[in-house]
Amino acid sequence: MRYQKLIIINRIKFYLATFYFSLLFLINCSQSEHIKDQALDENSFVEKKISTMFSNFQIKKELEESISYETRFRYPKAIVIHSTDKYNIKDYLENSIKYNFFFHILIDKSGNIFQYPSYKNKVFRLIPKMDKYVVHISIEGTEDEIHNNSQQLKKVTNFIGNLAKKYSIPLENKDISSERGIFTHTQAKKKYGNFVDMRDCGGEKVLSKILIGLSGTYSPESEWKDRFSKEWTFRKEDPKSNRPKEEFTHGRSITISPTSILENVEKDSSGVVPEEYRVKYTFDQKMDPTCIVLHYTAISDFKQSLKVLEDRRVSANIMVDKNGKAYQLLDSLNHTARAAGGTNNACIQIEIIGKNTEELLNNEVQTQKVIALVKEISKIFNIPINNEKIESLKGVFSHTQAKKKFGRSVALIGKDFDPGEEYMKKVIEATGSKYYSEEEWYGRTGEDWIILYGDFQP
Ligand SMILES: [Zn+2]
Repeated sequence: MRYQKLIIINRIKFYLATFYFSLLFLINCSQSEHIKDQALDENSFVEKKISTMFSNFQIKKELEESISYETRFRYPKAIVIHSTDKYNIKDYLENSIKYNFFFHILIDKSGNIFQYPSYKNKVFRLIPKMDKYVVHISIEGTEDEIHNNSQQLKKVTNFIGNLAKKYSIPLENKDISSERGIFTHTQAKKKYGNFVDMRDCGGEKVLSKILIGLSGTYSPESEWKDRFSKEWTFRKEDPKSNRPKEEFTHGRSITISPTSILENVEKDSSGVVPEEYRVKYTFDQKMDPTCIVLHYTAISDFKQSLKVLEDRRVSANIMVDKNGKAYQLLDSLNHTARAAGGTNNACIQIEIIGKNTEELLNNEVQTQKVIALVKEISKIFNIPINNEKIESLKGVFSHTQAKKKFGRSVALIGKDFDPGEEYMKKVIEATGSKYYSEEEWYGRTGEDWIILYGDFQP
């Protein structure tokens, strides 16, 4: 009995000792981490708090307090650089806060470094798909100004070098999907979308100088990992691939001219559509249409537009000429066209001939035809005339709305107009339906849009 007691007491002593030494070890570790932090901060890290900048530029206290972030314990894995471009710092700060974005560090033209307090564990919203593991650094100036400002660039380079060392971030930009490295905001936009406009941000020239200055490895865009794959929001064509152009399988001079079920398209007395107005295309698949997408061609001539569609291996179901005559381009309304990524498999695509929204708005005979087509098609296929929720693929939408939600377009900018929301409003209201403006689109302020909502992003 006594012997057993002794064993128990000894065990307790042993556990206590183990606990004590583990505790000592932990305290030691966190202390040395703390000392390391301070050493770095004193040498070359942070010089000024960002609040100094707020007071320098008379940023209102309420605005400063409204900066939102998520606090989480983290070890940053990547650095993304941004440039203030043509904005002065006051406007840059105010706009960033107003549009609910922010960044961790700002480095001005003289090389002053301003940091947000305890930035390491603050997650700001700037690139929703990357924010959790990124430190965002904003550099004052346009890409060229930063590139030519050796004093500023030296500070930026040293700062990034120290940060990368501290968190073991590799000095390279080749593989953004690895989540580790140093990247420009431009590369993040091209990979993940989530931008407000497509202007370059950060600058590849600037990043190449930084990485070379740190003896890292800079990779130009053509060498970025998987750069030619479909997963990129902005897909780049591989210049080395000499893929022959896809064969046409259907359309003008390949298949027999079809009859059309639509009253509002041109056809002869037996209902056959005119041969020379059809498009050559590659058949993809059949669909039961549940929506309509409107586009403008950006070209003022019908035959020329037809040629451009064929050259690019894209298509539309219907195209409406300037004189108000509409043509069915594909063999059937149930054939999918290639016009607006994310909607092709469900929507009838209508191209409207015209250079810009203004030209479309001024063409009454053409607009009346578009309205008649929208009414007729929606009646035949039981499509609601409603533009509120594009992801439902039920309704009548602009190509711009599709681009903002799904991306997958070569011409993708924040200030997009295809065919123009003013035109959409005119068409939808003419059918007696309610038009939803962009701020009323379903979930528009959500982060699952390729082009985020807003006018400004740092
Ligand atoms: Zn940026």
